[in-house]
Amino acid sequence: PGAAGGDRAARIDALIEREQERFRQSHPRAAAAWEEGQQHFLYGAPSHWMRRWAGGFPVYVAEAQGARIVDIDGRDYVDFCLGDTGGMCGHAPEPVTRAAVRQLQRGATTMLPTLDSLWVGAELARRFGLPYWTLTTSATDANRGAIRIARMITGRDKVLVFSGCYHGGVEEAHVEIREGRVGLRNMIHPNGVDHEAVSRVVEFNDIAALEAALAEGDIACVLTEPLMTNFGMIPVAEGFHAALRAATRRAGTLLVIDETHTISCGPGGYTALHGLEPDILVAGKAIAGGVPAGIFGVSAAVAERMWAQVPRTNPKHRQSAHLGIGGTLAGNALTVATMRAVLEEVLTPDAFGRMTACAGRLAEGAEAVIAEHALPWHVTRIGARAEIMFSPAPPTCGADVIAGRDPGLETLLHAFYMNEGVLVTPFHTMFLCCPATTEADVDRHTAVFRRFVALLRQEGL
Ligand code: PMP
Repeated sequence: PGAAGGDRAARIDALIEREQERFRQSHPRAAAAWEEGQQHFLYGAPSHWMRRWAGGFPVYVAEAQGARIVDIDGRDYVDFCLGDTGGMCGHAPEPVTRAAVRQLQRGATTMLPTLDSLWVGAELARRFGLPYWTLTTSATDANRGAIRIARMITGRDKVLVFSGCYHGGVEEAHVEIREGRVGLRNMIHPNGVDHEAVSRVVEFNDIAALEAALAEGDIACVLTEPLMTNFGMIPVAEGFHAALRAATRRAGTLLVIDETHTISCGPGGYTALHGLEPDILVAGKAIAGGVPAGIFGVSAAVAERMWAQVPRTNPKHRQSAHLGIGGTLAGNALTVATMRAVLEEVLTPDAFGRMTACAGRLAEGAEAVIAEHALPWHVTRIGARAEIMFSPAPPTCGADVIAGRDPGLETLLHAFYMNEGVLVTPFHTMFLCCPATTEADVDRHTAVFRRFVALLRQEGL
């Protein structure tokens, strides 16, 4: 029996306040640092994302190692946020540190290639199956490059995305379906851009809507994750990828697969695991072990079409055509050295095996707690990621996520986690395992989650 309606919402709000007060009391140094940060940072911390933590303010990190973080208040955490995937290699992985120090001593950025780049290019082609690569400074920038290329070679301006997506600071993807039309995602500011003019948005897994949108013949590319991870995890329906590939080919639309998060499925991401055939593949975040980096790879056919417009040959005259894709620091020696360390020694097939097993154990632990209390919740697990959702069955699209959301309960759970030494990506309840995550780390989560459910029961919620 749970409290109903408004009473329930008010009680959850009161519990959030109690957890935030507990957080303030137990984090006096972070509270003081947060207050000082307001003086010189626009949103209190170097990045506005850092203010989104449910404790009310972020923990300030003293040291991060493997899957553990120690904060300036002397408290320690099991980290399943892992920098929202940027830390998927685990914190301070020794091969990356070694490669970074070695390269920093030899020059970080020269706008000239190093020999490590040859190894990296060959390994990216081997892992992901696309022959030609470009490095960028972020996944956002890789997506921007992919969109620009799609427009360049199709002569079309629209980008189709799925409702609930997130692909970084890319205007075209800041949209979701609102009352059947192109609307702005999750309170993102519209920013003076006419999104209706550059974006199309349909529900994930909806092949009929996708085909209808593509039939208009004005879409340069479909930009999508292979399964959605940014709105609560949304698994892909049987047959969806085959239909997506066939429909985009029919329409002359490029297919851009963004593996920035789903690289957690395995060494070549979801694409290699399931034999997808994107025209362009994007990744970033963890790919250089925490050194800012993104990558995109293109098919031979896309490369040929690009070279027809912007020649591959060394330009005779300095004032010659270029791609208009940014990134002065892209592919610099430091990034290439750390990317090599990640691909060669950290995100290995063996590491993915262990990460995936840990995520499986986490999902089983959470499922056991849910079953003990017969709660109408579920856990999704794909590769090294798991997600707890407050609905009985996995969503099939963004609309299902919106319908199943319980924002108060989610905030309460996240504040409780912070107080109990568990860090989870603040945007929804998604867990990521790194090569250093242990069974004991996972079991710590299960115990905390069990205490959370006990608290709800005790409060009659
Ligand atoms: N693609 C996906 C799938 C992402 O989840 C994100 C960030 N959450 C990005 C791209 C953008 O990454 P970044 O902010 O590091 O550029």
